[in-house]
Amino acid sequence: MTNDAPWQGGPLGEQAYAVLAPNPGPMTLDGTNTWVLHAPGDDVAVVVDPGPLDEGHLQAVRRQVDELGARVALTLITHWHHDHTEALPRWVELTDAPVRGGGHGDALLDAERITLGSLDIRVIATPGHTADSVSFHLPAAGVLITGDTVLGRGTTVVAHPDGALAPYLASLDRLHESASAVPTRLAPAHGPTHDDAAAVIAFYRQHRRERLDQVRAALAAGDADAPDVAQAVVERVYAEVPREVWPAAKASVQAQLDYLAESR
Ligand SMILES: [Zn+2]
Repeated sequence: MTNDAPWQGGPLGEQAYAVLAPNPGPMTLDGTNTWVLHAPGDDVAVVVDPGPLDEGHLQAVRRQVDELGARVALTLITHWHHDHTEALPRWVELTDAPVRGGGHGDALLDAERITLGSLDIRVIATPGHTADSVSFHLPAAGVLITGDTVLGRGTTVVAHPDGALAPYLASLDRLHESASAVPTRLAPAHGPTHDDAAAVIAFYRQHRRERLDQVRAALAAGDADAPDVAQAVVERVYAEVPREVWPAAKASVQAQLDYLAESR
């Protein structure tokens, strides 16, 4: 998705607010969005992905919750990657709240419904970026928190071998279904929000199909015989992306090669 407007975090509807962590980079875009979920009038809040270990960021998240007149009652994790979880030990010290997801606390179950105060959160298992990736849908608020499965800018990495393409494509289908059922805005873990989550997810599906076609074409053009097939495909298909993200692109290419081998 092309959206070059600067992103600094902020509210998304009445129940979600992004506090942007100061960890920008080629993989984290503007930085990690820590989502604060809270329904007006409630004295409890849910925090999704405390992010990198940065005391200033954690205090900013705490201030946001304080300003809502609430306390953190639960912390949720979209997936285990460090830019989402590094702060966890310190965050638990600060909040004393239970944690779920990313291998911490009680595992999140697909289709599970989490209600806290007036918050109504549905868990959607969305493996693909990583095996443990989950998304959170707040149907009443019209918000879909996608972690790194769908980003606010550009496209994501299928992090082979933890991630895999077949489950990723199935996850996009499930997210699209949820986002199409009710008007739903996109709350990604990196990059800006979008008013039409279904449109962004549809773009992601289209992008994946195009990349697969490009990889097939690269193999047919001779890359199938290269000593390092994935590297040869990266150099051809991802020629336009900055070299610093080539290692990530190679992981995605490996996932695509596996997918093509399995579906042959
Ligand atoms: Zn991330």
